[in-house]
Amino acid sequence: DPAVSIQGLYKQYGNGPTVLNNINLEIAEDDFIGLIGPSGCGKSTLLKLLGGLESKTKGDIQFLTQQTSPRPKMGFVFQDANLMPWLTVIANVMLPLELNGASKQEAERKAIQLIEMVGLGHVKNHYPRQLSGGMRMRASIARALTIEPQLLLLDEPFGALDEMTRDDLNEELLKLKQLQAWVGVFVTHSVTEAVFLSSRVLVMSANPGEIYREIPIDLPFP
Ligand code: ADP
Ligand code: ADP
Repeated sequence: DPAVSIQGLYKQYGNGPTVLNNINLEIAEDDFIGLIGPSGCGKSTLLKLLGGLESKTKGDIQFLTQQTSPRPKMGFVFQDANLMPWLTVIANVMLPLELNGASKQEAERKAIQLIEMVGLGHVKNHYPRQLSGGMRMRASIARALTIEPQLLLLDEPFGALDEMTRDDLNEELLKLKQLQAWVGVFVTHSVTEAVFLSSRVLVMSANPGEIYREIPIDLPFP
C-alpha cells in the first residue's frame, strides 16, 4: 500500500514559470526516496509541498499512513541544521516534544534517548556553536526524530559536510531507519549518497521540473 500518493502536482511561485510540472508518485510505507537532479529543477519545492511548507498550485497529495490528523507527523532536516543557537543540544531536541504538549520530564526522557542514539550524549549540554558541523547535523536529526515522525523530509542534509562525516551520517541514518519506521524523502546532489541510502532514486529534470526517470538500484552496482 502507498503511504503517500502524489497526483498531477503542479507548482508555480506567483506568476513565475512552472516549477513542478505534473508530478505523479506513489511512496510506499517502507520507502526512503532519494531525489536527485540539477540545481533549480524543483527538488526542494517538491519536498516543501510534501511538508506543507509551500502551497501547491494544482494536484493532490494524499497521506495514507495511519493517523488521526489530516497530516502525518513530520520531521524536517535541512542543510544548515537550523538549531536554536540560544538553546543547548538537549533543549533543542526537547523543543518539538514540548511544543506538542509533552511534559518536561517526558520530553527530556525521549530527547536523551535520541541524543544517545546519534552519539551526542557527551555534548548534550553544549550549545550549537560549540559543535562541529557533523555534530550539529546529528542534533538536527535527533530533533526531527523525537516526535516519532511518520514522514521524514531531508533537504540536502549533508551537503556542507566533509566526505567522511557524510559517510558516517549516512550509515547512522540507515540504522535509525531500521529502528523507527518513518517514510523518508531526501534531496541530494550526490548520486552515490542517493544509491546508498534510498530504496528508490528518482531523477528530476528542470524547466519545468519533472520526474524523468528512476535509477534501478536493485542491480549490482559496480
Ligand atoms: P532545487 O531544490 O532542485 O535546487 P528549488 O525547488 O529550490 O530547486 O527551485 C526550483 C525553482 O523554483 C528555481 O527556479 C527557483 O529559483 C524557484 N523558486 C524556489 N523557491 C522560490 C520562491 N520562494 N519564490 C520564487 N521562486 C522560487
Ligand atoms: P537550494 O538550491 O539549496 O534548494 P536555493 O539557494 O535555491 O536553495 O534557495 C534558498 C531559499 O530561497 C529557498 O527557501 C527558496 O525557496 C528561496 N528561493 C529560491 N529561488 C527563489 C526565487 N527565485 N525567488 C524567491 N525565493 C527563492
